[in-house]
Amino acid sequence: MALIVQKYGGTSVGSVERIQAVAARVSAAVKAGHELVVVVSAMGKTTDALVALAKDITDSPSRREMDMLLSTGEQVSISLLTMALHELGCDAISMTGAQMGIVTEAAHSRARILHVESDRIRRQLDAGKVVVAAGFQGVANRADLEITTLGRGGSDTSAVALAAALQASCCEIYTDVPGILTTDPRLVPEARIMESVSSDEMLELASLGAKVLHPRAVEIARNYGVDLVVRSSWTDEPGTRVVSPPCAGRSLENLEIARPVDAITYDTSQAQVSLLRIPDRPGIVAKLFGELARQTVDVDLIVQSIHDGDSNDIAFTVQERDLNRAEATTAAIAPTLRQGPLRPTETEGDEAELLSDRHVAAVSIHGAGMIGRPGVAAQMFESLAAAGINIEIISTSEVQVGCIIAPGEAPDPDGPEPDLEALCQRAVAALRKTFDLPEEADAGVAIAAATEKDLAPVSGVALDASQSQIAIRHVPDRPGMAAQIFQLLASEGISVDMIIQSQRRRVVAGQTCRDIAFSVAEADLGRACDLLEASRTVIGWERLDVTEKIAKVSAVGKGMVGCPGVAAKMFAALADRGINIQTIVTSQIKISCAVDRDRGVEALQAIHDAFGLSERYQATSREGLTPA
Ligand code: ASP
Ligand code: MG
Repeated sequence: MALIVQKYGGTSVGSVERIQAVAARVSAAVKAGHELVVVVSAMGKTTDALVALAKDITDSPSRREMDMLLSTGEQVSISLLTMALHELGCDAISMTGAQMGIVTEAAHSRARILHVESDRIRRQLDAGKVVVAAGFQGVANRADLEITTLGRGGSDTSAVALAAALQASCCEIYTDVPGILTTDPRLVPEARIMESVSSDEMLELASLGAKVLHPRAVEIARNYGVDLVVRSSWTDEPGTRVVSPPCAGRSLENLEIARPVDAITYDTSQAQVSLLRIPDRPGIVAKLFGELARQTVDVDLIVQSIHDGDSNDIAFTVQERDLNRAEATTAAIAPTLRQGPLRPTETEGDEAELLSDRHVAAVSIHGAGMIGRPGVAAQMFESLAAAGINIEIISTSEVQVGCIIAPGEAPDPDGPEPDLEALCQRAVAALRKTFDLPEEADAGVAIAAATEKDLAPVSGVALDASQSQIAIRHVPDRPGMAAQIFQLLASEGISVDMIIQSQRRRVVAGQTCRDIAFSVAEADLGRACDLLEASRTVIGWERLDVTEKIAKVSAVGKGMVGCPGVAAKMFAALADRGINIQTIVTSQIKISCAVDRDRGVEALQAIHDAFGLSERYQATSREGLTPA
């Protein structure tokens, strides 16, 4: 006998017939000997209809009364489903969020779950009943029993939180799609169902996955090791498993407001190569990384900063032992990247410049809690600045911020090697303090290379076509600059994505400067620019270059760790279609490129195709990747 939490979305309980079908499925699981908690959403579009009703009365409804109103939707479906179960002779009882003891913060309309007082549910289960639970709602302030809701789409979160609190053996999310697809099927009709995906990949695919599974639910599943399955309520197909690492007895207090950062990793064996002033044309990075892949150089982190005039900078890291090969390959190919007619702004002497540094280290923070919390990256930059550590390169993803750090002064080639271990220890200690991470939280080398040979390097691809990009030119190269800039944006609640700081330094009026670029939601662009403008003289940068309409395409897969050639393949897929890559950022399991918004869907299709995601169960294996 197992305890199973099932969750049915709005469409799955959208009519009397559908409710009866759900009851039949639930009762079959009960007959198979399982204990069941069944979480439901409001029927069909009920919640939207309630929102519209409120709007007919007022433009500015009180949040408290909105929660009171919207929570009724789920109360309709729990009572009807319970009646349907009774009709099938199945003992069941409906319970509201308050009755189940789902205690939340007091933030109406967007409350996070603090904990679940599960004894009342437990009692009903022990009495042999199916508990039919209202999703999306909870209760704050135990004295006044204030009804709260978790934010739109929050029933997934209720279900996974209940599964964590009750230590259920699994949580099944029933919906109107057959599982999680390799990409958005409306954009790429060949999208296929993934058999399984890790919760880390799912979080990196947030913009793809959010429509099927609330990111907050994935975060809880990951933190508490809840086994999740997403499947159709219309068929018996197995759907998609979302796999999380087993969790070691994490406290069930502050379930959802745990730390934004839950791991720090560092790696002192990194070396960095930069190629400055390469032409801003399709195919250039494909050529470079294609050649590196042919030489089986495994590239860890890649950043390409926003173009400056006709040229771009590219920086990447490799393991130290691969540096000589990486350097030689890059040096050999650099002159050929210049082939083709010079543009009017270029001159013969405008050669690409190769820089490398053997003594750098990568320090990263990881955590699902960064999603939707502006300012985490800024806190990291500030913490490093306060410790006097200068950041060479920054590259961010949905759930990770990575920095390449180096000892301040260029080391004397004949002197002793700089102590990178000590530098990293200093960085890690500062970050632990900032993010309130206990000593035992893992700091160490990051995700190990996948061992399964047939693991596909890329699991899914996603498109976000709502971003804009800002480049801040000539920011003084001093510790603390990135911190100031991103704190300023965070203080106004502006979330930034894809932060890039690359290698090129310029001396302007006697001062060494660098560019910092990042992307924001297009809706926040105006506000972000205004805020930055106001800071120009304080921070002392020169100008802003804005690209209003970009699309971000991302390839995500834990199989890309330790697998040379993945980035090259992605870049080549874009180059083949003449799509120019504006910027690149990577994390360990994700590569993102900004491209022209008009080419976004085409780029998505090209990448989906390149990794063989269209052919069911035949995704390109890691073996076949290295170009011949
Ligand atoms: N009924 C709520 C909504 O429509 C919660 C949910 O469906 O998950 O957002
Ligand atoms: Mg939903």
